[in-house]
Amino acid sequence: MEYCVFCKIAKKEIPSFKVFEDEKFLAFLDINPRNKGHTLVIPKEHFRWVWDVSYLGDYFEVVGKIARAIKKALKTDFVVSFIIGEEVPHAHIHLVPRFPGDKHGPLIDLSLIQKIKKEEMEDIANEIRRFLS
Ligand code: AMP
Repeated sequence: MEYCVFCKIAKKEIPSFKVFEDEKFLAFLDINPRNKGHTLVIPKEHFRWVWDVSYLGDYFEVVGKIARAIKKALKTDFVVSFIIGEEVPHAHIHLVPRFPGDKHGPLIDLSLIQKIKKEEMEDIANEIRRFLS
């Protein structure tokens, strides 16, 4: 694929608030967080859709590990996950921690974007990373 923002993030050509990295996967904070700690987990290799990833089992293991770290870091037992892929054509799984009174309702309201300063995004990413090490 000619231009893919998540391939660029995977290759470190574009910065991200990195949460986790191994040989095959990368997780980083969504730049339009629907709640504090909103994380995207991607395969480094380019696939258009999550369902195209040829190592889905490994992918889900990593997503689970990150979800558990988010629970600890953001001090909530409630982390929702969803897959869209309409905006960015590179497989990614959303993980969004939920909090009482976060105004989302039963589903995540995608229009509800939190304004979080860069320093706080860095702190959140560090905190999640702390529970992954
Ligand atoms: P979707 O493809 O509809 O699942 O949504 C793509 C998500 O990627 C959106 O929530 C965007 O805010 C997020 N996003 C787009 N560009 C970046 C980026 N450079 N860094 C982090 N998140 C991004």
